[in-house]
Amino acid sequence: MAKISINISVDWEGHYLHNLQDFINLRNEYFRDIPLTHFVCPNYFLSKKKYKYLDKIILPHDEIALHLHSWKPLVQAAGVEFKTENNYYNSYLNSFPKFLKNILINGRGVPISVYNKDELYKLIQFSKKLLEDTFSTKVFGFRAGGWIANKAVFEVLNELDFMYDSTAVAPEILSQDFSAAQVGTMLDSYGDENGVFTKQILDLWGNTINERGFLENSYRNKYYQGAISIHTQPFKIGNLWELPNNGGMSDFASTEKIFTPQIAHAQDIETDSYISFGCHQEGEIENKYAVLDNLQFVTKNNIDVDYVTNIEFLKSRG
Ligand SMILES: [Zn+2]
Repeated sequence: MAKISINISVDWEGHYLHNLQDFINLRNEYFRDIPLTHFVCPNYFLSKKKYKYLDKIILPHDEIALHLHSWKPLVQAAGVEFKTENNYYNSYLNSFPKFLKNILINGRGVPISVYNKDELYKLIQFSKKLLEDTFSTKVFGFRAGGWIANKAVFEVLNELDFMYDSTAVAPEILSQDFSAAQVGTMLDSYGDENGVFTKQILDLWGNTINERGFLENSYRNKYYQGAISIHTQPFKIGNLWELPNNGGMSDFASTEKIFTPQIAHAQDIETDSYISFGCHQEGEIENKYAVLDNLQFVTKNNIDVDYVTNIEFLKSRG
């Protein structure tokens, strides 16, 4: 019997820790025993302030990995000059309240790949150490903010001895009817429009090949050609495993349109399958419900799956 391994990840954006109690309640009630991989952006921990409750949500059977958004304080603390270009919030900024605008120009929407390789080395090395020191643990995994990683990011991850990256995402999650022949509706699986962000994802993980810039993907294409799909399985980029976030995040990926066909496909084939989906720590609680929908689908239909952290998954593969 082919095995289905499922990784559930939580992306911590490095912005705020306001919603922790909601998440603790949700997890305690519905999925306390399921291990999670937390991709954490350590921007919160620059102040050395001690945060309570983290050990109520990050449990001993979980994994901590690095998530990187290029927040100005984090970039500067790493000794790198802050950049603002290609911020995917740029086109909306004027429609936001000033307070939110000031937060969003502070780097969250700036793809890390706008930084050059030397800058990325400093930024990733610094962030990895800050995270490891904060949680007294080793970090093996990485996911770039906004699902944007180019050649320089992969090279730095290789050089800093990361075991895996989990940045690759399937364009069809962000654009319904996306295929080799068409870009699709540019609406995500719930029918929401996500602006310039969708175009960046389609350009990076879709069918076109870009030779340079922050959406450079010719390097990745040497190892895995063409568009990432919801059925794309782990592959190697140099020494680094790529564990694609093939099921996307709950804000964009519905159970009906993404997870159900993933499971049907996994049951249909004779080889083992890996499925990765998750939610955002900072997201509203409603945006986490798609995770519960997926879990409920598995239980209701008596589907035999293994819930694993990414590092456990890699170790089980030998
Ligand atoms: Zn993020």
